[in-house]
Amino acid sequence: MEINFDVLPAIETNIHRLQREIDELSLISENPAPVVTRILFSEADLRARDFVKRLCREAGLAIREDAIGNIFACWDGADKKLPPVATGSHIDAIPNAGKYDGVVGVLGGIEAIRSLKESGFRPKRSIELIVFTSEEPTRFGIGCLGSRLMSGVLRWNKAAKLSDLNGKTLEYWRRHAECKGSLSSVRLAKNSYSAFVELHIEQGPILERERIAVGIVEKIAAPATLRVVLTGVGGHAGATLMPGRRDALLAGAEIALAVETAATGSGSADTVGTTGLFKIEPGAVNSVPYKALLEIDVRDTDRETRDAVLGQIEKAAGKICDRRKIGLKMLRLNADPPAVCSPALVDMALETCQAQNISGRKMISRAYHDTLFMARLCPTTMILIPCRKGYSHRPDEYSSPAQIEKGVCVLAGMLAMAAG
Ligand SMILES: [Zn+2]
Repeated sequence: MEINFDVLPAIETNIHRLQREIDELSLISENPAPVVTRILFSEADLRARDFVKRLCREAGLAIREDAIGNIFACWDGADKKLPPVATGSHIDAIPNAGKYDGVVGVLGGIEAIRSLKESGFRPKRSIELIVFTSEEPTRFGIGCLGSRLMSGVLRWNKAAKLSDLNGKTLEYWRRHAECKGSLSSVRLAKNSYSAFVELHIEQGPILERERIAVGIVEKIAAPATLRVVLTGVGGHAGATLMPGRRDALLAGAEIALAVETAATGSGSADTVGTTGLFKIEPGAVNSVPYKALLEIDVRDTDRETRDAVLGQIEKAAGKICDRRKIGLKMLRLNADPPAVCSPALVDMALETCQAQNISGRKMISRAYHDTLFMARLCPTTMILIPCRKGYSHRPDEYSSPAQIEKGVCVLAGMLAMAAG
């Protein structure tokens, strides 16, 4: 496909080359195809990182890695004093995932850079591809580890305390992956980049339903996670009479309903609240549940609305547990602010679409990505492309070569415009 701008040479992307590389990378997995599993710093993840680094070197990019394993591949611009323009995403994959989540942004980013190079374009600002470490929370229970550290949202001394479910520490895994340097060096100064644009599959059904080629992200809804531990009193289901029971499950059930009430009553259509995890002990049909563990996910694009909902849930949980005489421990695992993307970059993306005859619309990203944290450092936006039925995080995740190509064309055009 050709991109024509008044200011730029014609850019031709090579979707066949890119699709071949996406297919090849998908075979580097802990599970046989079509399943993709690449847990951070597993053998498969390390081999996948080598694969991506090789493509970057072949594209003539200079590679450096930071102390958490974020990979930076740079195409030097004419004026190295200017902050670079960056793009990128992730290649780690949750167990039983597909081959497009994250990968489209990394390999598509390389393709965008290659096609700009091949067109004869010479950037004024450097253009940098970033492969972020551990966008998925699989290893350490926290998502976007690389970009959280880069942005300073996660302090290095807190990150140093992370360990996986087998008790292996972050330090162990850093040594295993041969990451060099101290964690404190990962943090970047504000405005280290002039712009960051992430290409990603939508992971939702809107673009496919509306037959629109790309979604340009204006806002990223930010999640908060609550962990609730309820302690009641167990007993025999036959012998413990109803008056005076202290059933932890029933308190949890009321709390889950309070989540629904708070989210639906927030006054914003963007608020969502989900009790995604609910475990009870001992979990036997003839036993009163004495313990319940709930994890609750609350999101909104507006921080105040989201926090008000969190507060309402916490208050309701307190009242419910008082009334039912249930012990309550409640912890906010994370409460990240939402990101507002740069209106100038959103406009630039829409112009790029128009210039290439590609249909585009503004969108909200309800899934979160490394862009959420990059937004702390510089102006950002995201280019979303459709994926079949909105499926993601499963082996039948799919975007067609034509859909991917349009996303790469918009990305290439934006990188060229932003790098001047
Ligand atoms: Zn992703």
